Amino acid sequence: MLSADIEYYRPETIQEAVDLFQILKGENKRPIYYSGGTEILTLGRLELAAAGAFIDIKAIKECLSFGFNQSYLIAGAALSLTSIEEKNLFPLLSATSMGIADHTARNKITLGGNLCGKIFYREAVLPFLLCDSWVVAAGGNGVKPIPIGQIFNQTFQLEEGQFIVQLLTERNYIHLPFVSIKRRQQWETGYPLITVASIKADNGLRFAFSGLCPFPFRSKEMEAELNNIGLPVPERVKRALAQIPGPVLHDVEGSSEYRLFVLENTLNEIILELEGE
Ligand SMILES: Cc1cc2nc3c(=O)[nH]c(=O)nc-3n(C[C@H](O)[C@H](O)[C@H](O)COP(=O)(O)OP(=O)(O)OC[C@H]3O[C@@H](n4cnc5c(N)ncnc54)[C@H](O)[C@@H]3O)c2cc1C
Repeated sequence: MLSADIEYYRPETIQEAVDLFQILKGENKRPIYYSGGTEILTLGRLELAAAGAFIDIKAIKECLSFGFNQSYLIAGAALSLTSIEEKNLFPLLSATSMGIADHTARNKITLGGNLCGKIFYREAVLPFLLCDSWVVAAGGNGVKPIPIGQIFNQTFQLEEGQFIVQLLTERNYIHLPFVSIKRRQQWETGYPLITVASIKADNGLRFAFSGLCPFPFRSKEMEAELNNIGLPVPERVKRALAQIPGPVLHDVEGSSEYRLFVLENTLNEIILELEGE
């Protein structure tokens, strides 16, 4: 149950948010950053989240940026998934985001909330993993851009009091050929059986996955096998499956055997499509 005396703050600057976190923590109020609130409120009702104060980041203008500077696309962490789709500045991110939940929920769900959520699909991270994006994080040690490969390992490794302000993606990645496929066991919305996103970069195809293991990931070992053009595509895929970096999920969405079967077919399909371009 959500406690009736949760405090709510809506800072307008990054510094104010960071300072508030420290002050509330000092007062033992168990602050957490609040974005779309869809997960916080659900987990709160289930008594899994025990926050005493919410710091809503949606009034911070940097968290709502969405546009290009000279070198990068800047995507603010408080953007709703619907606004990302509607502006469609990053087609792979739009395609991946559109597979998350339903339109009504996507009006609320934000980019940063999906990336930092406890529910492990976090599908919106896949495009950023593929594009070697930078994560702008703010906390007690200031505001700094960090390569996603350094700060994301199954989850975002944020320090206490740190939050994601923006993601920066180099312009030259934005319009590369891509595929984003979400396979579900049933229904048109809901969690994935597996989601695979792929781009065709200069040095080969890149692949990132959600719903396969209990965390989203990009695997250089799997990519090496999938790009081994000396072998027939089905053989490359079989070898890549041997490099999956964790246990394959076996749950209500589908058995591990079924997931592997679907993954094998999906990878064959993606390679034929992207290598054919
Ligand atoms: C019906 C439904 C179906 C869904 N289906 C899917 C699906 O198929 N695939 C999928 O990936 N997701 C899915 N989701 C979304 C997901 O599970 C979460 O509900 C959602 O991503 C949370 O986003 P939010 O903006 O509401 O985050 P919030 O609830 O505001 O926050 C979630 C967590 O992230 C933290 N946080 C938020 N923003 C930041 C930030 N900028 N920096 C640091 N920490 C932050 C919060 O402190 C909290 O711990 C679904 C959600 C719903 C409601």
